[in-house]
Formats: sequence, C-alpha cells, structure tokens
Amino acid sequence: MVISAPSGGGKTVVRSGLLKLNRKFAFSVTCTTRARRPGETDGKDYYFVTVPQFLKLRAEGKLLEWAKVHGNYYGTPVKSVMAVLGKGRIPVMTIDVKGARSVKKLFPEAVTVFLLPPDLKTLVQRLRGRGEAPENVAVRLETARSEIKVASGFDYLVINDRLPETIREVAAIAELETLKTARNLDKVRSFGTQLDRKDL
Ligand code: ADP
Ligand code: 5GP
Repeated sequence: MVISAPSGGGKTVVRSGLLKLNRKFAFSVTCTTRARRPGETDGKDYYFVTVPQFLKLRAEGKLLEWAKVHGNYYGTPVKSVMAVLGKGRIPVMTIDVKGARSVKKLFPEAVTVFLLPPDLKTLVQRLRGRGEAPENVAVRLETARSEIKVASGFDYLVINDRLPETIREVAAIAELETLKTARNLDKVRSFGTQLDRKDL
C-alpha cells in the first residue's frame, strides 16, 4: 500500500495509526540523504545514508524506486519491501508522488492512496504546527500545489480531515483490496484438489 500526500498531509501520522490499528500493516523503512530530525531513529524512521552511499545503492539496483525531494535523495530499498511481504504483512510505503507512480508501474497490484488536506489553509496550519520554518512552509506549499494536481492518478483519494476517520478509511481500503478476487485466485484453485469421492 502506497500512501502519498503533500508534505504535512498526514502520511506519518496515518502510517503510525495503521500500524497501531492492526499488526498486518508494517512500515517498509526507506533511505534518505537528509539530516536526521530530532526524535528520529536510524533504521526505524529512515536509513540515514550519505549521498555516495545512496548513489551506490541506486547504481547496484538495490532501490525499488527513488526520487529527489526538496534537494535530498529518498529511495525504497527492495529488501525493506520484500522483508515485509515475506512475513505475509502489508508493506505501507509513505513516499512522494513520483515514487508512487514508479511503484505502480512496477507493481500494478500495488494500491495507491492520496491523502488530501481539507484545504490549503489547514495544510499550512499543520506544517506550522509541526514546527516547520516559514521558508520551509512556503516551499512545501508550492510543491503541494503541483502534487495535488496529480492526485487524480491515484487509486483512492482520502480527505484527511479528522485523523481517526482517515485511519479507518485507509484501513478499510486495505481490507477490501485484500478481498479482491484477483488477489485470491489461489484459494479458489485449492478447492479443485479438495475431497475426492473416495474420501466420502
Ligand atoms: P507528512 O508525513 O505527510 O509530512 P505529518 O504526518 O507529519 O505529515 O502531519 C503533519 C502535521 O499535521 C503533524 O503535526 C500531524 O500531527 C498533523 N496532522 C496530520 N493529520 C492531521 C489531522 N487529520 N488533524 C490534525 N492534525 C493532523
Ligand atoms: P521528509 O523529509 O519530510 O521525511 O519527507 C519528504 C518527502 O519524501 C515526503 O513526501 C516523503 O513521503 C518522501 N519520501 C520518503 N521516503 C521516500 C522514498 O523512499 N521514496 C520516495 N519517492 N519518496 C520518499
């Protein structure tokens, strides 16, 4: 499950809400060249890497997708996603809109969700509330305008007004997606080999 939103749109809080709600969701940790913010832990929030380390990972094909956002490199290690899938859990990827498009191209079965703020005023208030400096808010607002323009390409659009409701809606999307026939054909096939006449 890929969740995108403009910066301040709620990706981080929605992700933690999902992870708390149900153990079937797991965060696939991504890597970045940006500096660690206070309170962030290496390997939990991000793998913090240097630019040469990032470029090496990219050149070696170890990134599923990557993007440069606000001057820093970000990328999803293939390993992170595979580790989550291997445990039968749903990888939650909170990445930018370009990354979301790359993932959808590679894995059409991925489900993409765009979180839309109720309005831009609220987005600015949330960015300020997070402690972003005014110049950062201005840059993020401009980027938000262009990101929102591509929201129509996502599978689902969720308006992040009341947080508990947003979390419930994103969880409901995952719930229904896992029930899609195309994702469960192996279960249907298994009926073909069940119970023979001689077993009766
Ligand atoms: P992102 O990860 O997309 O940049 P965050 O999850 O950091 O966004 O959210 C930005 C700020 O807005 C945070 O301080 C967060 O607590 C707050 N926030 C997010 N969603 C809501 C909401 N629905 N109601 C109130 N505050 C919210
Ligand atoms: P921040 O620096 O605020 O944590 O994140 C900045 C932006 O980069 C956010 O939109 C975030 O979702 C995005 N991002 C984080 N990790 C990745 C990643 O691995 N790939 C891509 N494409 N974007 C990412």
